[in-house]
Amino acid sequence: MTSQKPKSPSTPHRPAQGNRDFRNRTKRDGKQSGEQKNLPRSALQQPAGNAAAQPAILLKAGREKSLLRRHPWIFSGAVERVDGAPLSGDTLAVRDAAGNFLAWAAYNASSQITARVWSWREDESIDAEFFRRRIAHALAARRALLTSPASGAGGEGVNTGMRLIHAESDGLPGLIVDQYGDTLVIQIGSAGAECWRDTLADILQQLCNPACIYERSDSDSRALEGLELRNGVLRGILPESVEVIEHGLRFKVDVAAGQKTGFYLDQRDNRALTETLARDKDVLNCFCYTGGFSLYALRGGAKSVLSIDASGDALRIAAQNLANNGMDAAALTRCCEASGAGKAASYPLPQSAGCASNVSRDTARAEWLEADVFQALRKLRDQGRSFDFIILDPPKFAPTAAFAEKAARGYKDINLLAFKLLRPGGLLATYSCSGGISADLFQKIIAGAALDAGVDAQIVHHLHASADHPVLLSFPEGAYLKGLVLRVGL
Ligand code: SAH
Repeated sequence: MTSQKPKSPSTPHRPAQGNRDFRNRTKRDGKQSGEQKNLPRSALQQPAGNAAAQPAILLKAGREKSLLRRHPWIFSGAVERVDGAPLSGDTLAVRDAAGNFLAWAAYNASSQITARVWSWREDESIDAEFFRRRIAHALAARRALLTSPASGAGGEGVNTGMRLIHAESDGLPGLIVDQYGDTLVIQIGSAGAECWRDTLADILQQLCNPACIYERSDSDSRALEGLELRNGVLRGILPESVEVIEHGLRFKVDVAAGQKTGFYLDQRDNRALTETLARDKDVLNCFCYTGGFSLYALRGGAKSVLSIDASGDALRIAAQNLANNGMDAAALTRCCEASGAGKAASYPLPQSAGCASNVSRDTARAEWLEADVFQALRKLRDQGRSFDFIILDPPKFAPTAAFAEKAARGYKDINLLAFKLLRPGGLLATYSCSGGISADLFQKIIAGAALDAGVDAQIVHHLHASADHPVLLSFPEGAYLKGLVLRVGL
């Protein structure tokens, strides 16, 4: 560490004027926007420093420890004062109480995460070249994945979907980029990345040459960062229909209105595992979205697959996906017309359907239910239904640890019900994508659910996100997706 002051703290660390559109709407003029008003008070009470000094974040004594371990977030509670008159999105030097340089970080006056680290190197300029290097590095890592058989990403032509940039874990806090064929979907979740939005889009356009870069900066977490919601084309023209091919299965992706960036790439390997476990089983896929796990289970030779989701739009796409993969087009169109909540429609796959050869065509059945899973599981229990293989892939119940207790109740509830619906020897694949629930806690919740359901269960697989969602060792929060495949006793 050195106490040397940065040479030129602001100039090389600020994007060109063209990138600053958002900052004009976040001026600290004493008036709070609607979003700011909804922020926790502590997030708005940034300790004011010396306005005339060079812009910098000074930490309280002893609060540099997590940065020394290279954790990229600086929480407001660790900040002694903010010098200069920085705007949200500006890159500032972060210094310990003795004035030693710790990192360059993007400042956000409106967030409980006061700053997110771009670089640990004092001599590094945070400029367009910096972002080009980081993005090129992330892309090269993904190219290597495509050719690695162990990655589960498969060979070229079999998979056209990939998470190209995974935010903090790729050294680019707040930036997510997913590729679906020749469409890129970008999601910006921090003031720092927001500030460099145009530069980032230009670099992605140059390095990836996509037909379209679509922006889905409309997640709820933007409000916590004091950022407006955005959804629209950033570069190029959005193709009429966007599709991703995953392990040879075709999935339609609604990049404009679908969930997240349109598809859940993180479950790619776990979906492939499902295929190997489904043969001759009666499968229940809860929170099925656009039918990912269901299609794999059908291709893997499931006897039947009942899929449940609350979203009629997602189920309509699931229907198209089944049809597009030659698994019964006509029937599923009708299925989605029966969109009354809780109404199920069951359609056998026809003998003539062009399913993968390992599907038992005369017995495989797809049944779709638009319903709330919490209620549907209870109904299935009351009807005396049972299954050989149940998949639970709910949405994020706990975005942060503050929601962990409530989320734990939700996880326990659905897992307990699932254990009760499983036949002896049956399998449960259960997931949590909650950043606020650790793998350890998740396993404890599932153990509690099994105990209350009166079943013994073994863990047969510990699961996580696919390899294109790497986890930075110093940022365990990146390991948000965890899953277990359990086998219940006979
Ligand atoms: N397994 C999916 C992704 C699931 S995402 C895949 O592999 O693609 C979570 C899904 O849960 C979303 O489709 C959402 O519509 C659905 N959902 C959220 N709350 C729900 C509820 N209470 N009941 C049923 N579905 C719900």
